Amino acid sequence: MKILWHQGKQFIPDVTTANLPGIFRGRPIISREKVDELALIELCPTQAIAANPVSIDLGKCTFCGECAIQFPQKISFTKEYKISTNERDSLVIKEGIDEPILVNPALVRKEIHRFFGSSLKLRQVSAAGDNSCEWELNASNNVQFDVSRFGIDFVASPRHADGVVITGPISINMAEPLERCYHAIPEPKIVILAGTDAISGGIFAGSPALDRSFLNKYHIDLYIPGNPVHPLTFINGVLSLLKKTK
Ligand code: SF4
Repeated sequence: MKILWHQGKQFIPDVTTANLPGIFRGRPIISREKVDELALIELCPTQAIAANPVSIDLGKCTFCGECAIQFPQKISFTKEYKISTNERDSLVIKEGIDEPILVNPALVRKEIHRFFGSSLKLRQVSAAGDNSCEWELNASNNVQFDVSRFGIDFVASPRHADGVVITGPISINMAEPLERCYHAIPEPKIVILAGTDAISGGIFAGSPALDRSFLNKYHIDLYIPGNPVHPLTFINGVLSLLKKTK
């Protein structure tokens, strides 16, 4: 009893309002402060920073924090973990704009809410992932985050799934297994990209070892940035897609 009292609650009662510790890097804010933009752009390992206006593409950002360390007057990272969206352009944060990143309800396909509003089974494909996003997706089902409480689960077979969650930059070797997995999922199905590597290729972008043609062929329903993705980012993103949050 003493141990249980000491540990307190093991689960997060409300995953939509949970507070994260200060070390977490979520949505960045870019001030209008004048800095050496060339130096700022050059320090980014994934070319996520652009000029005129200064912007950060969260689909490319590895959240290494180097830009905020070198240019604290220009860039800071908030603890905002609700950064998933169904619009790729919404992942580009521009200077002077401090607005939340949202799932656009007008772009969510009608059948998604109709078919998956109460239950969503997902197949996860690690397409040359480094196991970091995969671990965090796994953690979303632990006792703290407990994504199953919303009827969202990962399943072992694509034939039992309603959609696929892709992690990793998609190597040539994983391109065909990913395609096969996609076709094994019955219609209607959803496609989710989880993590910087899946969204843009991350530090592997442009590598001849990748085959990202899958992304040009099929509709992407949700982009979940992060390196790795935080379980709260994943859960809130999927809940927004399913219209289970306001
Ligand atoms: S935190 Fe993102 S934008 Fe900043 S340097 Fe790292 S990868 Fe580039």
